Parts: sequence; C-alpha cells; structure tokens
Amino acid sequence: MAELLPYYIVIYTFVFLFGASIGSFLNVCIYRLPKEESLTKRNSHCMTCGEEIKRRDLIPIVSWCILKGKCRSCGAPISPRYTVVETLNALLYLAVFFYYDVMQYPLHAILVCLLFSALIVVFFMDWDTQLISNYVVIFIAILAVLEFFFSDYPYITTMSGNVSDKPWVSQLIGLFAVSVPLLLIELLSKGKAMGRGDVYLMAACGAFLGVGGALIALFIALITGSVAGIIQKHKSGDSVFAFGPWLSVGVAIAAIWGQQLSNLYLNFTFPNN
Ligand SMILES: [Zn+2]
Repeated sequence: MAELLPYYIVIYTFVFLFGASIGSFLNVCIYRLPKEESLTKRNSHCMTCGEEIKRRDLIPIVSWCILKGKCRSCGAPISPRYTVVETLNALLYLAVFFYYDVMQYPLHAILVCLLFSALIVVFFMDWDTQLISNYVVIFIAILAVLEFFFSDYPYITTMSGNVSDKPWVSQLIGLFAVSVPLLLIELLSKGKAMGRGDVYLMAACGAFLGVGGALIALFIALITGSVAGIIQKHKSGDSVFAFGPWLSVGVAIAAIWGQQLSNLYLNFTFPNN
C-alpha cells in the first residue's frame, strides 16, 4: 500500500484539477442556461465593466485567490460563488473516486461524478431562478440510460436487502416512484407546491438511482427542504422557495450512501428481517 502512495497522490491531484475545470464550465451553465445563451460562444466577461476576462485569470480557484476576488480592470468584487462551485465539484469528484472501488466499477464512478455536476447546476440555477433546465434533466436521463445498460454496480432491490443482479427492475420502478406522486402534487396545487421541473428531475434521477435511492432522495429532500423553508420564512416571511436544490442534495446523498441508509432504515423498521 505504502509504495502505491505516490500513484494515488498523482491520481487524486489529477481528479481534483479535472473536477475544478469542469466546475468552471458548470458556472457558465448556471449563468447562461436560464438566459438561453450559448455555452460555447463568447468568452467570460466582468459583470460590472464588461471587460473580457483574460486567459491567465480563468484558472479555476487559483485566479480568484490571486485577484483576491476582484476584477483585474475595474476592481469590482467577483462573487465567491464561482470558486465555491469549482471547489465543490472538485471535492465531490475526489469523494466519488475515493468512495467507490474505481478499479471494480469505473463506469459507475464516472457516471456518478457526471450526475453530481448536473446536480450542482440544478442546485444553483433553481436557487437563483426557480427553474430547472430541461437540458440538465435530459443530461441526467442519458446518464440513467447508460447506467441502465452498461453499469454493473449492484443495487439493493429487495426488502430484505439482498443484492439483486437485475437492477434494471429497480431503475424502472425508480423512474415513477417519486415523479408520479410529485406530478399529482403539482397538478393538485396547480404548480404552486411543486414545479414540472421537479417532476422531470425526479423521473431522471429516480431512473438513475433505482427505487430505493429515489425514495431516500425524496426523504432527505423533504427534511432539508422543510428546515430551509422554516428558516427562510422566519428570516424574510417569504414562503415561496425552490424545492429543486433540496431534491439535488437528496439525490447526491442517495447516490453515495443510498444502500447504507436503506439498510439502516430496514434494519430499524424490520429488526427480525
Ligand atoms: Zn470589471
């Protein structure tokens, strides 16, 4: 193990830097998708003076620290959020590669990394605009299809916690398990309690996670969302808020610890099982 340490340091450094660079692109998505702007055209520019940001000032995390969070030409503050998104994506990639046996399930690890990136976009975009981009949902749906056909990662699909070698049944049920109840809430509340974006998001994520993961994601979203809603109402008296960010948090936690959490819950509820 000790002689492998240098290799691990190299791999993890690469994963972190790669994650930070993807994080940089996520910032572009979060900012431009709601405005339906092209993701590839035009370079980034300062929000205050409009000056194009130079290539040397576009290094993820590092540039923001060197410039102490200020525009090089006009000195206007640059939101720390850009760096937060880059660092968050980098740390999540590290966590996934660290957590999964990458040698055993490399495709699953890569798909979970991409899922996390999509969830970061959903979190911040929905937080800002109360919108979930259809492009991001379609991206997650493609990940779910890849997981469906190619991933050999074993999911728990039975009540007794047995590992089934047919996770596609679970994924198929996961597609509807949370999205259909959310759709009913959306229709009954005429879109006030839930948006159609939340419904599509949980259809795509449910298909990725399988039924157990989808239910855990919803459970976590309800808890974190309620707490956030109470805090927000207390602070601003505003009861309108986006549910998508909390669904993203739930899906992210379910993607990593879904199996442990469902085992814990089943052992707790059915101790003799
Ligand atoms: Zn500027």
